[in-house]
Amino acid sequence: MKDLLFCVAAVTCMSISCAHSEEPTRLSAEALAIAVQLREQALEDSTAYDFVAGLTTEIGPRLAGGDNDLRAREWVIARFKALGFDRVWTEPVSYAKWVRRGESAAIVAPYPARLAVSALGGSPGTAKGGLRGTIVKFDDFKALQAADAASVKGKIVYIAYRLRAARDGSGYAPASAGRTNGPALAAKLGAKALVLRSAGSDSNRLPHTGVTEFEPGGAKIPAAALSNPDADLLERMLAGGKPVTLQLDLDCGTEGTYTGANVIGQVTGSERPDEVIAIGGHLDSWDPGTGAIDDGAGVAIAAGAGHLISALAQKPRRSVRIIAFANEESGDIGGIAYAVAHKADVGAHILGAESDFGAGRIWRLSSQVKPEALGAIDQMMQVLAPLGIERGHNGHAEGGDFDSMGSAGMALLELNQDGTHYFDWHHTANDTLDKIDAKDLNQNVAAYAAFAYLAAQADGTFGSAPGAVFAPPPATAGQ
Ligand SMILES: [Zn+2]
Repeated sequence: MKDLLFCVAAVTCMSISCAHSEEPTRLSAEALAIAVQLREQALEDSTAYDFVAGLTTEIGPRLAGGDNDLRAREWVIARFKALGFDRVWTEPVSYAKWVRRGESAAIVAPYPARLAVSALGGSPGTAKGGLRGTIVKFDDFKALQAADAASVKGKIVYIAYRLRAARDGSGYAPASAGRTNGPALAAKLGAKALVLRSAGSDSNRLPHTGVTEFEPGGAKIPAAALSNPDADLLERMLAGGKPVTLQLDLDCGTEGTYTGANVIGQVTGSERPDEVIAIGGHLDSWDPGTGAIDDGAGVAIAAGAGHLISALAQKPRRSVRIIAFANEESGDIGGIAYAVAHKADVGAHILGAESDFGAGRIWRLSSQVKPEALGAIDQMMQVLAPLGIERGHNGHAEGGDFDSMGSAGMALLELNQDGTHYFDWHHTANDTLDKIDAKDLNQNVAAYAAFAYLAAQADGTFGSAPGAVFAPPPATAGQ
């Protein structure tokens, strides 16, 4: 299958974006030597850890459009300047502002119990006094998709699916499907609310929030996540065979439109300043924790890498751009805004990657580059392999906030972090600085500094071009 995709990508590339035959992209011995030096420096540098420690201590949670949104941007602008980025600017990002004021849930019958619950981002609130209904259980989102309206109408839907922890994070897509798409579907079927088992792998009484999406103008119902132990309790009562009645009180909802911004810092290139290597993370976070692993760490990794490159005796040939994206959590809103603003420059975005999977060590590098650049990726691997990073596939790469640019034809790398524990803490009150190991964080900085520098110095490109198609996304790609 991989060979087939490669073949399709090669043919498409030749027919669309590279009609003339191209020289292979190459990295010079001098560039490789400096990348090794950057890698070794990064492993001893405290810039990234200081960044995420400062952000989570001095600002804290960064709900998009919330009280800390502007403060966080001002903090990052000041820090980017202090790190030596010669250009720092913002680009506006507008979206519907969602607010959380309060939430509670309790089982009323057959055995009264209070539940640890978190409203999902985008959920409407309940009417004052809350709502009450009988639970109807589904094992997963697919089971809800197969449900008939009569079994759901007037009830509170419960989705029981349990996330499985995995290094590659593959357990998240099936678990988040119920959260992202379950409430809209349940609303269509006539349910009065939806609760689900948190998309999390822990056993703390800390629910995992996250976005849910409704169609514009479509039916909406209140929706919330239960902590895993509370979901267990609910399921024991359901297994007893008596009807289970739930009381749900959510005080939340959307409040007009908010305009925030992507914050961008740049180390401007000495030879080709208009050609860009773009790295970054997202600045917003959910509100229960302090957004340390999601995604203060990602912005910190990119900032740490950019700082080391900016401190080199000679500026890189191309520009290295560090982007702190706005409102990723509601659906890549900042990334989409960036693509709208820069789509005409997609060919000048030579290569990019976003870090948005915590602070665990990178174990694999996959790519979305043209065939003629695969040799240069192999050269990069000479610098990255000593960090314990293995080579993944070439074809479609997950780009996070760069996905919209990737779909428009930008070449991407996907640096996969170890996500074994990521979903223990993701989107909970437990997303705090103590979950970050400074050495593991620096392994990430080393990889980003090395690849970004090498891409900036490369002779030749990685295939970015308007409309370039590298490979279709895999059918299993999740939200
Ligand atoms: Zn994230």
